[in-house]
Amino acid sequence: MAELPATLGEALAAARGRIPAGEARMFLREVTGCTAAQVAAYPERGLAAEQAARYVELLDRRAAGEPVAYLLGEREFYGRRFGVSPAVLIPRPETELIVDLVKARIAPEAAPAILDLGTGSGALAVTLALEIPAAWVTAVDLSPTALAVARGNAAALGAQVSFVESDWFAAVGAARFDFIVSNPPYIVDDDPHLAEGDVRFEPRTALASGRSGLDDLTRIAAAAPAFLAPGGWLLMEHGYDQAAAVRVLLQAEGFVAVASARDLAGIERVTLGRYPLRGVDAGARQA
Ligand code: GLN
Repeated sequence: MAELPATLGEALAAARGRIPAGEARMFLREVTGCTAAQVAAYPERGLAAEQAARYVELLDRRAAGEPVAYLLGEREFYGRRFGVSPAVLIPRPETELIVDLVKARIAPEAAPAILDLGTGSGALAVTLALEIPAAWVTAVDLSPTALAVARGNAAALGAQVSFVESDWFAAVGAARFDFIVSNPPYIVDDDPHLAEGDVRFEPRTALASGRSGLDDLTRIAAAAPAFLAPGGWLLMEHGYDQAAAVRVLLQAEGFVAVASARDLAGIERVTLGRYPLRGVDAGARQA
């Protein structure tokens, strides 16, 4: 076995050319409990053997491509730390857009019923429950291991969420929701992106969705009206080139006020629509 680094400075040197320096500093913080400033200011500070061994393991696994979020077991979403494991998609900043769009559509006194389809780590469901304390949030996932991660996050962050193991709406029951949100899989099955970077290590079922990438978006759009309260909203994240197709899907299902919202990179990332209030259906469909 190669010699273990004996100091913070040696540890950073061992990472050079293998992983970005910022990631090496993060791993050092993780194994030593030092702050970033301490790591930078005290290169001669000694490392205990078990700290060094743990650091070298993180370094080697990261150099082999494993995502930082899985190595550290956490990722920030909407300002909160979420536990993550390879059973769940790593939360991404663009998905925070869905939280903002829901918050912008809530009346001050409202206690909306919200459903999160394919909750994964629970990032959306838990964040919505905490941001909208009066909300009733239900979150489903097909994967029991993902649900265990999501339940852990709800408990750790003090969020009230009802979790259900379900293939999309299959086990949701007779409830109707004011908001249905989802970050479903939407990548084309043979997209080369699936073989690159972090995505290689993430659950394929959370990423890929048929030959057009639209299989799950289509399924959810078709089923959602039966689970929406009159005037309820459906909001779905999708790929950078899918906004127009998803708008057409929603319009074809009778949604109104259909629009797409851009993420911080300027990409149309979330498409939303409102299921009409009963009685105005016919007129609204022509609008
Ligand atoms: N946006 C992610 C990516 O392209 C995919 C997330 C998803 O499929 N829901 O890496």
